[in-house]
Amino acid sequence: MKTIFILLLILTNLANAQIPLKIEKVNEFVYALTGETKQRSKDNLGNNSTHGVIITNEGVILIDSGASYLGAKQIHQSVKKITNKPIKLVINTGGQDHRWLGNDYFQKIGASIISSEKTHQDQINRTDYHLNRLQGLIGSSLNGTNEFYSMLTFDKKMNVHLGDVDLELYYFGAAHTVGDIFAWIPKEKIMFSGDIVFVERVLGAGPAKNIKSWIKVFEKMASFKPKAIIPGHGHLTNLNEATRDTYDYLVFLRDSVRKVIANDGDMIDATNINQEKFRYLKNFESIARKNAQNVFGQLEFE
Ligand SMILES: [Zn+2]
Repeated sequence: MKTIFILLLILTNLANAQIPLKIEKVNEFVYALTGETKQRSKDNLGNNSTHGVIITNEGVILIDSGASYLGAKQIHQSVKKITNKPIKLVINTGGQDHRWLGNDYFQKIGASIISSEKTHQDQINRTDYHLNRLQGLIGSSLNGTNEFYSMLTFDKKMNVHLGDVDLELYYFGAAHTVGDIFAWIPKEKIMFSGDIVFVERVLGAGPAKNIKSWIKVFEKMASFKPKAIIPGHGHLTNLNEATRDTYDYLVFLRDSVRKVIANDGDMIDATNINQEKFRYLKNFESIARKNAQNVFGQLEFE
């Protein structure tokens, strides 16, 4: 009887195994919170993403609010391990679920929420899509999640001041989603790239379906010559690795699909493009071929 009880206890714990966010220190006042690089799941609360934390003398700026109410709470708990200062500002760097569906949690504790205008519209347009999809992927971990859209928006550039920290927000066009921005601390040369940069895992060609613009936006981001990059997915990184895992892959996909089209190839030929040199990236098996299809769809009529 006792054995059964212990076994049940272990199983219950396994069923609720929450995967913690890894806390990576960038400097004295900047941290990265890094989630799993796998698909969204009940255990990761949809936070298969990386987030930024900036501690100022007047409170915290959080970069991206997580994919769910519980995901936002997990982010908040991680922030509390670093500082007891309140979260005053949340920046949504893009329109994907993990960039903003935790907004409601943070507005309830008094934070203001900023995004680009394009992202604000993207949030509205794709709310149902995200909630339905997440219901299937994370199930009960979606409990309590309600959409809450960004409160302050900007077109191309915004300067944000909180306490002793200056942050610059830039929109240069569509990347992974239509409204992706990057956030920049000029004094420290620290970049929060959102989904403009994926490392460690294969990027998803994305709902914006504009690889040409994504490449251009990456180049703009790189021109700032960041010393450190808090990416949208994967561990704290630098420009070399970001270039290898994101930029080089985007350029490779674009050029390879162009060749298929120039040779009168079709979608099947695009799917069969040899992408082996990027096999070292996680999720290669599940995403690489879909990416080629997505980009073929984009470039077919260019
Ligand atoms: Zn993402």
